[in-house]
Amino acid sequence: MRSVLAFSESPALAAEVAAGAATICESLGGGFAVIAVSSETPSPSNFEAVADAIVEVAKREGAQVVLLGATRLGRQVAARIAVKTSQGVLSDVRDLRVESSGGAAAMLTGVRPVFAGKFNAKVASVLPCVATIPSGAYAPQGASASSTQPPATVEIAMGPKAPERVKHIETRPKPKNTVDLKSAEVIVSAGRGFKNKEDLVLVENLAEALGGVVGASRPLSSDLGWLGEERHIGLTGIYVRPSLYIAVGISGQLQHVAGIKDSKIIVAINKDKQAPIFQVADYGIVGDLYLVVPALLKAIETQKAS
Ligand SMILES: Cc1cc2nc3c(=O)[nH]c(=O)nc-3n(C[C@H](O)[C@H](O)[C@H](O)COP(=O)(O)OP(=O)(O)OC[C@H]3O[C@@H](n4cnc5c(N)ncnc54)[C@H](O)[C@@H]3O)c2cc1C
Repeated sequence: MRSVLAFSESPALAAEVAAGAATICESLGGGFAVIAVSSETPSPSNFEAVADAIVEVAKREGAQVVLLGATRLGRQVAARIAVKTSQGVLSDVRDLRVESSGGAAAMLTGVRPVFAGKFNAKVASVLPCVATIPSGAYAPQGASASSTQPPATVEIAMGPKAPERVKHIETRPKPKNTVDLKSAEVIVSAGRGFKNKEDLVLVENLAEALGGVVGASRPLSSDLGWLGEERHIGLTGIYVRPSLYIAVGISGQLQHVAGIKDSKIIVAINKDKQAPIFQVADYGIVGDLYLVVPALLKAIETQKAS
């Protein structure tokens, strides 16, 4: 019997989902199993078949929680599992806990941002239930650090009986990621405080000097396209948790802050001392980035030389 089943078809998210499953097991007891889809998978868009196969395993194992990565497939599958089993579903949640009080049935609770990240809503479902977690919800190493028994792997094969209700027309490869923001220890991000694309060499140099990588606010990565989509940090981009996050020319709107608030140290460089980024920053430099960043680079160079 496994109290929690973990599944994500995304290799990037699989370790986080396993870490989340391990965390829930610490409260529920029992072990957890990681579900792997066998190579006979008919089509990546066959949500129905994946859901059917997971429901079968969940019933067999008496699973209390089915935890999935909040990918396109994961969200579709979670909804279908919930309907097929008449269970509740918690979507895109973090900080999952099993709670019970006063003899009431145990609930799975989670937290999800609402109103563009301005508030956190606590959501709950009675057990058994289904939940999806977004990227960045759990540190991937959590699974191995857990005191629960190591996870088993259950391979599921989807038979021809599953109806293909979604027609897979075409697969277009995503542009290859050139940066791994999620595991970066140092991130230097650029915002609309930069006047020209060419000036981004300043953040590139600062990131390189600190052994870090370059991130961006949405206007730079999506609207202006000065940096790739894979560097887009925030509510609609990537959630990061580096040791050091430096926001250069970023105002600190809540949608950006939602993606950086788990950083250990936030440094803000902004010429407007009223900029909201200073409310979340551990260290703030009020000044023109075109003067501050070269000065920082010089200081780092001097420090390294001494
Ligand atoms: C549904 C929705 C989802 C969104 N999701 C995201 C998201 O995931 N990530 C995200 O980043 N945004 C997101 N946004 C956009 C967000 O609301 C802001 O518009 C965006 O974060 C602002 O980017 P910015 O700080 O780079 O630009 P601005 O807000 O224009 O700020 C630029 C800052 O640079 C400073 N500045 C200007 N010149 C200099 C200089 N020479 N030296 C120093 N400082 C200078 C200014 O004082 C200002 O504070 C979303 C918006 C919506 C509606």
